[in-house]
Amino acid sequence: MKNIVIFGPPGSGKGTQSEFIINKYKLQHISTGDVLRAEMKNETPLGQEAKKHIEQGALVPDSLIIDMLEKCLDDNSNDNGVIFDGFPRTVAQAEALKVMLNKRGQDIHVMLNLQVPDEVLVERLIKRGEESGRSDDNLETIQKRINVYNEQTVPVIGFYEGENKHVAIEGVGTIEEIAAKITAAIENA
Ligand code: AMP
Repeated sequence: MKNIVIFGPPGSGKGTQSEFIINKYKLQHISTGDVLRAEMKNETPLGQEAKKHIEQGALVPDSLIIDMLEKCLDDNSNDNGVIFDGFPRTVAQAEALKVMLNKRGQDIHVMLNLQVPDEVLVERLIKRGEESGRSDDNLETIQKRINVYNEQTVPVIGFYEGENKHVAIEGVGTIEEIAAKITAAIENA
């Protein structure tokens, strides 16, 4: 069983690399951003609440995200493991994830930290906004999301360093080059 956290700023390639890892290791993909976008599309109470935060480039409150994630874990029947994409984004979420997994007799195998310079992130996100129409991929919201990442999400790195699970991955290069580094990190963890 390999539970993996794929971590990095917005635009670092978490979604792209998740697809590769899922195919290779047959893991369940849990992207909290995707789950929230589906909730918004269906106009559920959670979706309506989340929308206010997402459109500001802010984080959705921990309590909502943690409950949502616990439901995803309850619904998951894949014994190979889960790739967590876009979660945890705060230390409180990282601590809650540990508790939720331990309760199920599981743990995190490795945390992959994709590192990409800010100017490359902005360039990639603007391009993605043009292609996907994602309402939070505009310059103003992108800048806010990068600031939120630096202020609220970067401390999660220290949490996984403390757990001896953190591996830094240079996130610039071709998709295949980055995928090769990720495979090595998963195999050596
Ligand atoms: P993403 O698709 O992962 O870039 O997420 C898009 C937006 O959803 C983020 O900018 C946040 O507003 C919200 N979001 C996604 N995951 C989380 C999380 N783990 N904690 C708080 N907010 C989140």
